[in-house]
Amino acid sequence: MDSSNLSSIRMGTGDLAKYPFLNEAGEYLRESGFGWEELERPDMKDVIDRAAERVEVEVSGNIYDKLDRYEIEILTFLVSLIMVKSIGMESVLRKFTLAEARRAEKFLTEDLKRQNEMQKRSLFAKIFDDLFKLKIEISEDGRLLKVKVPDYLARSSHFHEQEWKLINRLVHNGYVYLDVDETVRLVRNELSVLIYEKIRMMTLPTLPQAIKVKADDLRSKLAPRYEYRVTAVTEYPPCVKHALEVMGRGENLPHSARVMLATYMLAIRKPVDQIVMMYENAPDFNEKITRYQVEHLAGMKGSRTKYSVPSCDKLRNENLCFAIAECNGIINPIQFGRKRK
Ligand code: SF4
Repeated sequence: MDSSNLSSIRMGTGDLAKYPFLNEAGEYLRESGFGWEELERPDMKDVIDRAAERVEVEVSGNIYDKLDRYEIEILTFLVSLIMVKSIGMESVLRKFTLAEARRAEKFLTEDLKRQNEMQKRSLFAKIFDDLFKLKIEISEDGRLLKVKVPDYLARSSHFHEQEWKLINRLVHNGYVYLDVDETVRLVRNELSVLIYEKIRMMTLPTLPQAIKVKADDLRSKLAPRYEYRVTAVTEYPPCVKHALEVMGRGENLPHSARVMLATYMLAIRKPVDQIVMMYENAPDFNEKITRYQVEHLAGMKGSRTKYSVPSCDKLRNENLCFAIAECNGIINPIQFGRKRK
């Protein structure tokens, strides 16, 4: 069966509960004649409470994994988008959209691992192909999935880990072979951007009172934790400065850049507490995990090996170097700004 036929297959209603960002979820709302005024109904209280819980859980860096009937999930998703829009804070928006992408990624991975071939092809068509123009095929022996090399490169080039480099992949006849987790990971960023854009493009009418009260409450709870923190970056080398700026905007920083930032700060003897808080705006920030990782790099945990700051060569290879004239002649960021003898 070709993918055009598959596109006409309607998703199961259970799928709409897990993937409420699909166009069919919007169609469901339109067909059921749902309007803003419905949100004022007293029986919407449960949906509004669930939506507020979803936003709070996800903005704290966790995945909201409750799953109810599709009618409830589609409405909860819609109300949570309205709340995030109404809160109006970029860091909250970014954290929420990343967590929503990871929620969908979790369901998608589970579904693709247990579904039959027909159901899988329907998900490929509805999610990967319709939304992201990414064609996924099943490998000849049925054990792996495969994507065309240019499609793979267009997405994996944003990943800095070595395992995503084409040279480390199984490639055959113009296709890259991937397991389910890797295939779904390929579109995490696109899922997040899709939800981010949905919220950004929303125009809010006067909010129903029940939603406004919850959104105001969430805003005052979250503001002290997630407001933009200004970090003095002037004397840091450009690579470190760039990492801090990305972090300050609440954007995702690749793992290797996080390691560079922490090892640099440890090398200039910043206290661990202060280093941990530099990651606070990261969309997936978790203080306990970050502290463990920083202490691990400092040699205080695990193997007790103290990690040094990566060399400029290594950072250049990982696209993390933003050299300026003052970088001339140095081989490690730690030398930046120090007078040469
Ligand atoms: S040359 Fe070194 S210090 Fe300068 S930006 Fe590149 S990696 Fe950083």
